[in-house]
Amino acid sequence: MSGVGLFPFTEEHEMIRQAARDFAQNEITPIAAEFDESGEFPYETIMKMGEMGFMGIEVSEDYGGTGMDTLAYVLALEEICKADASHGVIMSVNNSLFCYGIEKFGSEYVKQKYLRAVASGKSVGAYSLTEPMSGSDAGTMRCTAVREGDEYVINGRKSWVTSGPVASYIVLFVMTAPEKKHKGITAFVIDTDQPGFSVGKKEPKLGIRASATSEILFEDYRAPVENRLGEEGEGFKIAMAVLDAGRIGIATQALGISEAAYEASLAYAREREAFGQKIGEFQGIAFKLADMKTRIEASRLLVYSAALAKERSKESGERFTLEASIAKLFSSETSMFVTHAAVQIHGGMGYSKEIPVERYFRDAKITEIYEGTSEIQRLVISRLESGIR
Ligand SMILES: Cc1cc2nc3c(=O)[nH]c(=O)nc-3n(C[C@H](O)[C@H](O)[C@H](O)COP(=O)(O)OP(=O)(O)OC[C@H]3O[C@@H](n4cnc5c(N)ncnc54)[C@H](O)[C@@H]3O)c2cc1C
Repeated sequence: MSGVGLFPFTEEHEMIRQAARDFAQNEITPIAAEFDESGEFPYETIMKMGEMGFMGIEVSEDYGGTGMDTLAYVLALEEICKADASHGVIMSVNNSLFCYGIEKFGSEYVKQKYLRAVASGKSVGAYSLTEPMSGSDAGTMRCTAVREGDEYVINGRKSWVTSGPVASYIVLFVMTAPEKKHKGITAFVIDTDQPGFSVGKKEPKLGIRASATSEILFEDYRAPVENRLGEEGEGFKIAMAVLDAGRIGIATQALGISEAAYEASLAYAREREAFGQKIGEFQGIAFKLADMKTRIEASRLLVYSAALAKERSKESGERFTLEASIAKLFSSETSMFVTHAAVQIHGGMGYSKEIPVERYFRDAKITEIYEGTSEIQRLVISRLESGIR
């Protein structure tokens, strides 16, 4: 099942899906376990993904992107994530959190200066909202920017930055008016080559180990006023609008992981024997596979629907917060359900590093945490539905 008939797939969609599938199977699958084990950043394959146009799929060709739509983006990302969730998150953050944020909220000057290199995949982009003492509640962040003439002086520590150690440019959120809490947050684009920026401790992680995650530190870093995104105090609004796009990426990542775990389980259930029969013939295993498949297909519908909602928003200007949150919540929880079942179906082999099923299980967990935990998605959905703020 692919959603054909329900969704307006074109030949271009099929072409990018096939190109991503071939690349993922030929170039990523063979190295995924090795990079997971070493925790090294997979530069070579990420640069190749840039050359193939995967790092700025929705960005206009005028700014170095591929100029395709959101459905094309999720179809390609799904294939990459099916092979390796680490490559997937690097691609998702680059496309959804950096490029989307800059294209939507950056001035012409910012787009010309910072978007081209990242959208074309020559440089890596990142997004930094979280701090050691501030995650779900961004209004408590402590990193500050103080205006001095035509510059802002930035100080503080941000944490958990995906691609933090390798990014050339970062969309950064800091306080310009701490007493106003979330209404005092301002967004900037940061050039990591400038003095005052450094990479802090690398975060040791359970999964997505080949994606580089670290703290980043600012010590009297000077950002020109032209590098501000929007006005002072608009940072929280920008951060949340960008996360709407990001959550579709993470929902897609979860979908890709689920599919990989399901396909491995199905193949194993058809081949492995116990008590004189294939284990897939036991109802206990067959029903698990049925539940996995059902939830995956429901996730797929939600992910593609959210992609269409984002695409419509380009014309209408309407937010797609609800669609993105629902897709992320369901697809990430499905991913945990499916990978948990996949380990069980594989028995002892599911626990072995000789096959990727244990990696899928470790990788799936993060999709319930970053870009808004499942609790935060429930908060967003219930508030939007009830109208109670
Ligand atoms: C591998 C990894 C990569 C990441 N990459 C990035 C990145 O690139 N950029 C970035 O800015 N951040 C990134 N993050 C940070 C991530 O977005 C945060 O960890 C996440 O938003 C949760 O924040 P927290 O860890 O501070 O948890 P907390 O906010 O402290 O939450 C702890 C627990 O309390 C629950 N909780 C909090 N508030 C509520 C509430 N109102 N109602 C119910 N429950 C609640 C949470 O759901 C969670 O279960 C990354 C994190 C990880 C682990």
